[in-house]
Order: sequence, then C-alpha cells, then structure tokens
Amino acid sequence: MSRRFEGRVAIITGASTGLGPVMAAMLAAEGARLVLAARRRELVEAVAQAIGGDAIAVRADVTDEGDVAAMVGAAMDRWGQVDVMMNNAAVPGVDKFIWEQTVDNFLDTYKVDCMAAMLCTREVLNRSMLARRTGAIVNFSSSAGWDGMVRKSHYSAAKGALRILTKTVAREVGEYGIRCNCVVPGAIATDLMVNYMKRVAGEQGRSVEEVEAAIVAPLPLKTFSSPEDVARLALFLASDEARTITGQSINVDAGLVMA
Ligand code: NAD
Repeated sequence: MSRRFEGRVAIITGASTGLGPVMAAMLAAEGARLVLAARRRELVEAVAQAIGGDAIAVRADVTDEGDVAAMVGAAMDRWGQVDVMMNNAAVPGVDKFIWEQTVDNFLDTYKVDCMAAMLCTREVLNRSMLARRTGAIVNFSSSAGWDGMVRKSHYSAAKGALRILTKTVAREVGEYGIRCNCVVPGAIATDLMVNYMKRVAGEQGRSVEEVEAAIVAPLPLKTFSSPEDVARLALFLASDEARTITGQSINVDAGLVMA
C-alpha cells in the first residue's frame, strides 16, 4: 500500500454520507490526518471514530462563513496545516422544469454546490496553503455540469460554474505551488443516486430497476461508478502523482461524456 499522504492534512466536507466517508478511509489508510466536516455532528463523529486518532469531526454548514472559518481553524489548531481540501459537500436541490424554477431553489443549490467551494478554498489558502506554498484543492462537479440535465437547471448551472471556478483558482494559485482540479462523476452508486432513482421511479410509475437500466443503457461501460472508483481519482489529483496537473475537470463516468 502506498502512503501518498503521510504527514499531510486533509479536510473533507460533506464527510458523513456517500463518497465522503469512503475518501476519508482511503486517505487515512495512506497516512493522512483528517478533518471531517458535515452538518450532522453525530454522523460525522461516527465516521471519525471509525477511522481513529488521526481524524477529528467538525460540525459545519459549508455555506456559512463562520462555520467554514471554524472548520479550517479546527484543522489549524489540531494539526497546524492544511494540505488537501476536498470540496465534496453538495445538495441535489428540488427537481423542477425551468418554467417552475424558483429563486430559492436555484440559489440554495448554488450556495452549496459552487459558492461553498469558493469559501472553503479561500479559507485554506489564507490560513495555510499560500504561506506554506503547497496544497491541492479538489472540487466535485457532475456530468450534469457539462451537458445540463432535465429538471436540474439549479444543479447543472452550479456544477458547471464549479468547473470554471476550478480553472480560475488554478490560474491564480499555481505560482504558489498550489493545484486545483475537479472530479466530474457521472452516476455513482450512493444513497444520493438511489434516492434520485426512487423519486423518478415513483413519478413515472416505473420500477427502480427500470430507471437504473435507462441510466446505464447509454454508458459505453454499462455500469455505475462505485464510490471507490471516484475516490481513487480524487486521491490521485490530491497527491504528488498529479504534480503537473491543474485546472482540469476529469470525468469518471463509465464513458458518458467524452471531451
Ligand atoms: P451525498 O449526498 O451522499 O453527500 C453529500 C454530503 O454533503 C451529504 O452528507 C450532505 O449532507 C452534505 N451537505 C449538503 N449540504 C451541506 C452543507 N450546507 N454543509 C455541509 N455539508 C452539506 O452525495 P455523494 O453521492 O456522496 O456525492 C459526493 C459528490 O459527488 C457531490 O459533490 C455530488 O454532487 C457529486 N456527484 C454525485 C453523483 C452521484 O451519483 N451520487 C453524481 C455526480 C456528482
């Protein structure tokens, strides 16, 4: 087992469900010390406890400037540095056609799915990365952010904007030895996806299996990605193996989008 994150400190937002805990376990196994942030304290504390002494749990709403400052402050107090920022937290918003769209649904989704990455990035840069002239930031977009997704203008627009944020950050911080990249998943087999398929199945009077088959059919590889498939790309981008990769949005989607 390689130890690419020995001596490094990583913050993961949205660390209580889905991809977050999987990345936490994989980073810890490679030597990282972790700050795991989520809104639901009990859930994220359970994830930190399962990892052990090298992980602390922090309650943080990533759209709240005070919470984000406290999250990064907790990392600095406990570990004294931040090397990796995983901007993983996201919400799907409420499915609506554009003619039904509301300002609240659009902006609430944008705040978590794009603005929060700006806040967390700004904070880790100011508190640690710029001074130490090192660091890796990984954002999490979605294939919906390339081509759009029906009834998801709020989510698609936010996830598309996140890719442009990634490029801008990469251009600004490169000369300080800091990289910023974006993982772009298609369908991942997590609760988020299972709940989405249940919702669509209910609305369309179809079974969940039929909805799943319709999602998988156009994929060249005919499969969902596992959380581990996506986590492996995120860890690669956060590691020194990606030393000269920055500003990139990389698909992990069984071939759905071919740039
Ligand atoms: P998930 O819903 O299980 O995890 C996201 C986490 O973010 C949740 O625990 C949620 O509570 C948390 N969160 C939401 N708002 C927050 C806030 N304001 N402050 C703090 N935490 C907040 O989703 P996942 O499947 O693990 O997805 C991980 C990432 O991958 C997300 O960025 C998601 O958009 C992206 N993605 C997922 C899929 C998929 O099929 N699951 C597809 C494309 C992209």
